[in-house]
Amino acid sequence: VSIEIINTGSELMLGRVLNTHQQWLCRQLTDAGYAVDRQTAVADRPADIRQTVTEALGRAAVVITTGGLGPTTDDLTREVIAELVGSPLREDPATLQRIQDWFALRKRQAPPSVRIQATVPEGAVIVANRNGTAPGLIMEVDGSRFGSTRAKVWLVMLPGPPRELRPMFRDQVLPWLKEAHPLAQPYTAHTLKTTGLGESAAQELIAPALVDLVQQGLEIGYCARTGEVDLRFAARQTNAAALVVEAERRVIPILDQYLFGREEDSLEGTVVRMLTDRKATLAVAESCTGGLLAHRITNVPGASEVFKGGAITYSNELKLRLTGVKPETLAAHGAVSEATAREMAEGARERFGADYALAITGIAGPGGGSEAKPVGTVFVALAHGGGTEAIRSFNTYDRETFKNVTAQQALELLRRRICHEAAAGGSLPRV
Ligand code: ATP
Ligand code: MG
Repeated sequence: VSIEIINTGSELMLGRVLNTHQQWLCRQLTDAGYAVDRQTAVADRPADIRQTVTEALGRAAVVITTGGLGPTTDDLTREVIAELVGSPLREDPATLQRIQDWFALRKRQAPPSVRIQATVPEGAVIVANRNGTAPGLIMEVDGSRFGSTRAKVWLVMLPGPPRELRPMFRDQVLPWLKEAHPLAQPYTAHTLKTTGLGESAAQELIAPALVDLVQQGLEIGYCARTGEVDLRFAARQTNAAALVVEAERRVIPILDQYLFGREEDSLEGTVVRMLTDRKATLAVAESCTGGLLAHRITNVPGASEVFKGGAITYSNELKLRLTGVKPETLAAHGAVSEATAREMAEGARERFGADYALAITGIAGPGGGSEAKPVGTVFVALAHGGGTEAIRSFNTYDRETFKNVTAQQALELLRRRICHEAAAGGSLPRV
């Protein structure tokens, strides 16, 4: 199935809005086994929309547009397309009712302009918008009018706001697509998430074990992110699922402790789950990450079961007052030192009453470095029932990446510790 995506919106051309639909829709489609051949973004100008849609209808089997279904004067997609395919706009009573109900439910007066969203091209399938007012639309278009060899081309129009588009696509459009355009071949794709390995190291580690599977049609993808590498195994053939499962069976023991999860798992999600499984608690003391570690942990639903909280001890004063670092330690070793990191972790563990405490201190830069401790130097310490361990790393990045990488290393230190304890207890945490 040849699929094209057209994102409309002048704000995309102005750089005011990041075109997240492009990435999100491609991801959804490829995960479901479909390939996107082309993606175009255009401004909200009738001539541009008309030309782009015309070209896509001449090539693709399915054309998906986003944006421009709303009630304002810059929302032109529905109108331009209705005219282009020759379907007059008609008011749909059921849609009008839905829109009025939507406002009534929120005890708001419906402005007269919203009525325009109830006008839909004749013959279009209406996809109700459960999170807004403008419905999505699916139309069957005669491709030959646009120079296509296909008699039937599908045109799908989705609303612009992500919180409307995403559930509509996932819950309504994708099921429709699977039925209207089933995959020619079974498709399976699984992702394993690793941390602590670079992408070439990951490849060197796993590729030799998969040579024969690749010859049989297995595709391996490596996707490097901040502090993580995703390994993606995919196949499109009759035995796709068996091939992918066999690949995983072989690489999981090789990856060993580098592997922390699957698919959409995050490192913080894995850590929270491991703590929850063990009924253990965590506290933090953060200097240079400024609370990012706590932020990431508290992004995980259910974090309150295990996360006690912590302190952002950015200044020396608060390192002393809140985590009980000794003045002598600061004087002798400085704030960015293993000794300070250890005392921060131990102080946080004791004062905040947690089973584990993570502490971070480092130099984000661009200023503040020295020869002995250049910009990027970080110490992370973990205090636990068996003692305190610390690592030194050297993270030379912009401030934001620095914080992310450093928080990642802290999470990883804790994850490794729990794996270690679990292995000693004879049970490896599940992935
Ligand atoms: P509305 O009824 O809100 O006007 P609409 O269907 O007309 O919806 P647009 O006006 O094109 O959609 O976009 C509404 C908002 O959705 C934009 O201001 C933008 O914030 C967001 N949006 C639109 N297109 C994209 C995109 N490609 N990626 C991310 N966000 C987008
Ligand atoms: Mg709009």
